[in-house]
Amino acid sequence: MRYIEPHAHMVSRVTDDYRDMLAAGCAAVSEPAFWAGFDRGTPQGFHDYFCQLTDYEPKRAAKFGLPHFCWLCINPKESENVSLAEEVLAMIPRFLDRPNVLGIGEIGLNKNSRNELRVLEMHVDLAARQDQMILVHTPHLEDKLKGTNLILDVLKSDRRFNPGRVIIDHVEEHTVKPVLDAGFWAGMTLYPESKCTAARSVDIIECYGAERLWMNSACDWGNSVPLAVPYAALEMRRRGHSLDEIDRLIYRNPVQFLGQNPRFKLGEEQPA
Ligand SMILES: [Zn+2]
Repeated sequence: MRYIEPHAHMVSRVTDDYRDMLAAGCAAVSEPAFWAGFDRGTPQGFHDYFCQLTDYEPKRAAKFGLPHFCWLCINPKESENVSLAEEVLAMIPRFLDRPNVLGIGEIGLNKNSRNELRVLEMHVDLAARQDQMILVHTPHLEDKLKGTNLILDVLKSDRRFNPGRVIIDHVEEHTVKPVLDAGFWAGMTLYPESKCTAARSVDIIECYGAERLWMNSACDWGNSVPLAVPYAALEMRRRGHSLDEIDRLIYRNPVQFLGQNPRFKLGEEQPA
């Protein structure tokens, strides 16, 4: 098996996780910027985090032979403070030229507040001006559908975007269709408790097909499983999906999306 982990917060994982991912067939990891479990209080805190994502973490992954890529933003959970967000956004262009940066993310909404929406629009504008791809986080709360629709409205009303260069992550049964219908990519996040389980994600694939869909573990400092993607592949296999279908979903699809940025390069050619 070969796969891409397109959404993992490796800064909060131990090196044993890198080793296990490699052993399971991981060919590259992509790491969106996210909330650290506490609110960073200053732009300097974000500066250091962006240095970690663009300098230290790719070196740590390289020790295991794993290409590491990242996305930059201020996370929706920290978007209530608009003036802090403005300072962080002003800093991001300085990092966009770093060789492992793929775009702006994970932006989006958490509680669907007015300030979060404003900061989302600021990020979307920055991405458009800088011609960057976007990775979007949707709320985990009961208002996921409302938040997803608000995000889709913001993205669809901006004519500067090709929806094929935007992925909306953490989709579930009730949000995947509007995302795909609008031409965006959709990510299914495999969590042991919330979001999608492996079985639910395979249900979604069986209902909607595998086009413009990927799976990720979104492993972080919380209750999450770094090998969730290969485990979901085992569930697909158990339910009779072919090896080619599995390879498309967990390897070729993320390569197709991420590869729209020429910086996304794999190491050695992966065997099929
Ligand atoms: Zn995340």
